[in-house]
Amino acid sequence: MAPIKMDGKALAAKIKEEVRTRAEQLSRRPGLAVVMVGEDPASKVYVDGKKKDCEQCGFYSEEYILPAEIAQEELLGLIEELNSRADIDGILIQHPLPGHIDEKAVVRTIAVDKDVDCFNPYSVGQLLVGEEGFRPCTPAAAMRMLHEYEIPLSGKNCVVVGRSNIVGKPLALMLLAEHATVTICHTRTRDLKEQCLRADILVSAAGRPSLITADMVKEGAMVVDVAMNRNKAGKLCGDVDYDAAAEKASYITPVPGGVGPVTRAMLMENTLLAAQAHQK
Ligand code: NAP
Repeated sequence: MAPIKMDGKALAAKIKEEVRTRAEQLSRRPGLAVVMVGEDPASKVYVDGKKKDCEQCGFYSEEYILPAEIAQEELLGLIEELNSRADIDGILIQHPLPGHIDEKAVVRTIAVDKDVDCFNPYSVGQLLVGEEGFRPCTPAAAMRMLHEYEIPLSGKNCVVVGRSNIVGKPLALMLLAEHATVTICHTRTRDLKEQCLRADILVSAAGRPSLITADMVKEGAMVVDVAMNRNKAGKLCGDVDYDAAAEKASYITPVPGGVGPVTRAMLMENTLLAAQAHQK
């Protein structure tokens, strides 16, 4: 039987519409500042996308495109200024940053109440101990997809391929918080296929095209592909061999049109939550 293709575009549109409606009830528009250092064309596309999302949600937004050679002190100074501004609810620093900038110092400088990307270690700690706070957008998007399609998580075997601080690790924590039994795989995992075949829910966030082949997918498993890669032809693709894996999966996310658009919508939702907290 053909699997259910999980439609991230439609879900993102629905979330943004809900965010817009909730934002209209506030006394002031939510405000998001996006900071990019250097002229990386791929990052610029993301920054432009965030501006468009803000317009769709009725938010105020500011973009800062700073020279690649900016001194760290100057960048930290800008973040501190944004921290103190009443019209800015969320601050997003586009990564990667140039090598002379200490990324850890940057993320620690973002005020926790404006850390809508959840990069500050304090925010990550809140996730770890199950405290209220922002959740990182990409793992939150993967979770939202699972919730939208009413995929039961309690007691399920979930395998997450990838252990980065921004995707794999927080996603594993979020699945664990919903009572899944979670395995995290990485480049030192001894038999990736064996691990993946145990998954009721298989999530790949490795950034390797064709890493997940059909013979690694259990019959009836649900497959979430978080990755955004370019294949040899330059086309956007995930980690999963979609067509072949779809023959075994019960649910599957496409790339593009899966987790990616929902990630952008989660940033809008986090900014709304920040604005609501600031206006209490
Ligand atoms: P990352 O920091 O490079 O981490 C990749 C992880 O995958 C690492 O933990 C690595 O293991 C593991 N890995 C790599 N190759 C592997 C292999 N052959 N077998 C098993 N594990 C392997 O990447 P990231 O920032 O987490 O991003 C992961 C993917 O998600 C990328 O494609 C990225 O573009 C995409 N992404 C998508 C969104 C979205 O909005 N949908 C947002 C962010 C990222 P080690 O730790 O052992 O090196």
